[in-house]
Amino acid sequence: MDMMYVSTRDAGEKATASQAILKGLAADGGLFVPEQLPVLDVSLKELAGMTYQQTAYEVMKKFLTDFTEEELRHCIASAYDSKFDTEEIAPLTRADGAYYLELFHGATIAFKDMALSILPHLLVTAAKKNHVKNEIVILTATSGDTGKAALAGFADVPGTKIIVFYPRDGVSPIQKLQMVTQKGSNTSVIGIRGNFDQAQTGVKQLFSDAALAKEMDAAGFQFSSANSINIGRLVPQIVYYVYVCAKLSGQGVIKDGEKINLVVPTGNFGNILAAFYAKQMGLPIAKLICASNENRVLYDFFSTGVYDKNREFVLTNSPSMDILISSNLERLIYRIAGNDAERNAALMRALSTNGKYEITPEMKAQLNDFYGNYADGDETAGTIRALYEKTGYIIDTHTAVATAVWEKYRKDTGDTATKTVIVSTASPFKFTRSVMGAIDSRYNAMSDFELADELSRIGNRKVPAAIEEIRNAAVLHDTVCGTDEMRQTVKKILGLPADEA
Ligand SMILES: *Cc1c(COP(=O)(O)O)cnc(C)c1O
Repeated sequence: MDMMYVSTRDAGEKATASQAILKGLAADGGLFVPEQLPVLDVSLKELAGMTYQQTAYEVMKKFLTDFTEEELRHCIASAYDSKFDTEEIAPLTRADGAYYLELFHGATIAFKDMALSILPHLLVTAAKKNHVKNEIVILTATSGDTGKAALAGFADVPGTKIIVFYPRDGVSPIQKLQMVTQKGSNTSVIGIRGNFDQAQTGVKQLFSDAALAKEMDAAGFQFSSANSINIGRLVPQIVYYVYVCAKLSGQGVIKDGEKINLVVPTGNFGNILAAFYAKQMGLPIAKLICASNENRVLYDFFSTGVYDKNREFVLTNSPSMDILISSNLERLIYRIAGNDAERNAALMRALSTNGKYEITPEMKAQLNDFYGNYADGDETAGTIRALYEKTGYIIDTHTAVATAVWEKYRKDTGDTATKTVIVSTASPFKFTRSVMGAIDSRYNAMSDFELADELSRIGNRKVPAAIEEIRNAAVLHDTVCGTDEMRQTVKKILGLPADEA
């Protein structure tokens, strides 16, 4: 029997794994969730002897049951290869009493690579399986990290095109360089004269533009999404939690029956939701520690049971976590509402009309697995500096939010004995300016590439290929458009006739 996926807003909308991956979002605006979470039936002992790729197969076959073994193994082998700069794929580093799970060894040196390296292969396989004849056009708006990881994942993947819109003046210089130098004959990168919200709104309009969909279909194209609400991104993220538990168990760090705490720097709630699913599958995980920056909407939610996005949007030094609507939280809400689509849909309607909702005490009682806290910019910088001075290990700003929150958790709860894994979501080389500035203010005068070289020297780590690549790379994408020109721009890229004036 195939595992089925059901919408969080409509019990009647069901899909197989491959259909859910193709659709991305359910038709009613809900998110697809597995009808039942599978139980991991391989022991940690067996898993401890497996490579990352073998572990990925054991986990993913439980969720993507309409993929054949051959298909799944092919997707995994194509994703987790020499694009990663270490054979371990997700290595573990010990520093100052914690274990750092480094998820930044892929092509774009952020954790988005863990899922976006495999999503294109899953999507192409899903398209074949469902007899989709059209070429798949991935359309994405990005504030920096997702766009580049999606570009790298989809570049030159047959049967796909990818179009990325980014705010021309709203990303870091390194992030922009990474995107505009992207190779691949199927890639398009467009700067818009506007902010991320406008890019995002424009993309959503294109997704629901029926006339455009019809024209595209006639020309052999259809849109799909690489957004983090796609279960094709969520499932690959469960793999590294299984991998790290098996590894710690194999190394004798955790004994039979011993559990670990996980600290996850959180924005859209995708990464920590994968950890929650891993726990439900039977992994030895104690607390899920949800670390936020000054956009502390999740911290407030865990403390009060009220989710309220009506507040100022703060630009922080951990920009990939600057978010006020954590989309994947909906999957958790659905679950604590007793898998009741109607109850969940009512809360989500309240969120879109009033910007807030409140859960019942009975629902809140089911959140005991979670602990939430936050760290501000100064605490984050202070954490980077202190860890470097104590151990020589350099972490990025997002990871530092997690480390700072771990500190608060230990003070708050007195739980200092539980072994802890801190999820490291970006390479410090991606945010050199904030990282080096935190270590010593005299670095503020250096250029971005001088900073990378200095970070390499003091941190005793090679400058990653992702940075070397852009040092002298040619700019290949210089298209700029207004927020009202996105439709025309997409049509031009796809070779469709321009609209009449
Ligand atoms: C996207 C991102 C996050 C947040 O992950 P979510 O799954 O959205 O919670 C944290 N750190 C970095 C570096 C990211 O790129």
